[in-house]
Amino acid sequence: MSTSDRIEEIYEQVKARNAGEPEFHQAAAEVFESLHVVLERHPGYFESGLIERLCEPERQIIFRVPWIDDQGNVHVNRGFRVQYNSVLGPYKGGLRFHPSVNLGIVKFLGFEQIFKNALTGLPIGGGKGGSDFDPKGRSEQEIMRFCQSFMTELHRHIGEYTDVPAGDIGVGGREIGYLFGQYKRLTNSYESGVLTGKGLTWGGSQVRKEATGYGAAYFVNEMAKTAGTSLEGRTAVVSGSGNVAIYAIEKIHQLGGTAIACSDSSGYIVDRKGLDVALLKEIKEVRRGRISEYVDERGDAEFFPGGNIWNVACDVALPCATQNELDEESAKTLVNNGVKIVAEGANMPTTPGGISVFRDAGVAFAPGKAANAGGVATSALEMQQNASRDSWHFDYTDERLAGIMADIHGRCVETAAEYGKPGDYVHGANIAGFVKVADAMFALGV
Ligand code: GLU
Repeated sequence: MSTSDRIEEIYEQVKARNAGEPEFHQAAAEVFESLHVVLERHPGYFESGLIERLCEPERQIIFRVPWIDDQGNVHVNRGFRVQYNSVLGPYKGGLRFHPSVNLGIVKFLGFEQIFKNALTGLPIGGGKGGSDFDPKGRSEQEIMRFCQSFMTELHRHIGEYTDVPAGDIGVGGREIGYLFGQYKRLTNSYESGVLTGKGLTWGGSQVRKEATGYGAAYFVNEMAKTAGTSLEGRTAVVSGSGNVAIYAIEKIHQLGGTAIACSDSSGYIVDRKGLDVALLKEIKEVRRGRISEYVDERGDAEFFPGGNIWNVACDVALPCATQNELDEESAKTLVNNGVKIVAEGANMPTTPGGISVFRDAGVAFAPGKAANAGGVATSALEMQQNASRDSWHFDYTDERLAGIMADIHGRCVETAAEYGKPGDYVHGANIAGFVKVADAMFALGV
């Protein structure tokens, strides 16, 4: 059987075994596409069911999360933790609280996380979790009660050496605090390394909050250098306005670029003089408000309710909101408007059709598993600090992050060239991540 046929057969098995999980199929297909060239050269990777084992999570936990709202009504949500692959270290990956969360979404995120974490070069396996709970409009007390109920079940499955969750969409420092508090209560131990993204006074790391966004900007800077240019004087459009987007914007400005647009679920704003990061932080982090409030305070800025942010012309596009937010049509618009670099701050924000458009147009395109790895890499640095009961300074931690992103970038470029796909960051990231995980799985046996 040819390599292509064997891969196709495994892919069909994966789809049949995981019916009704389109995002997971998409994530698997993206990795499989890159494996052709590796498996042609090293057919040994087909041995011992390696690819089949890689696609099946080691453990999938689904649990009930009952909680009581402020009016005394009982609600029941579903909690998930998919412990995907622990060959390189304890399962590591965020928790997402969003109504769209289901098992397929958690599996797609967990699958991506395996390769992303491998690319960081740090000893972390891959996992992901979350709930279909919608935090929007919920009071402080409701969020706390939900987090406590979620951890009441989750605590028995995690641990510093077992599985180390962190945040993702809908889970930030506040939620990590309530989750950690409940873990500490239930276990009667101060096990700092069980969660990352903690507050700075209770075991958190400097730069963790900023890390995914800063890391994406560092990665883009490396891409620009490789293309013989820089971010100096370049315009950027960044979708989203959460942690990832805000700190990507901040670092793009520090690196000489100008971020001119960002968004939330209500629409997008354009500020051609460059987005005011302090104002964005005030609106999003302090007030927990809507992006439209920005234009009330910055006269020249415009708000486009419900519009498509990818209509804004730019040199660099950073999708930092959510999966499949940048489709083929939007990619064509960006290309026609002259985009040079696209890097995914979110997980799988570009559809397969969108990626093809960028590839065909010769746009440098970095997948999330490389470009947004700075968040989880800094989580691994937080684990290091917790294990040694230490805490590092901001500048030192930021330097470590910049070094890790440059290394990931270098690994992608070298691997892509080695496998005959020069300049293709998607193949570079998938192959480098896969080879590292696969080699370790061989070493540890079936
Ligand atoms: N949720 C983030 C990601 O997608 C961070 C995970 C972590 O820090 O464990 O990589």
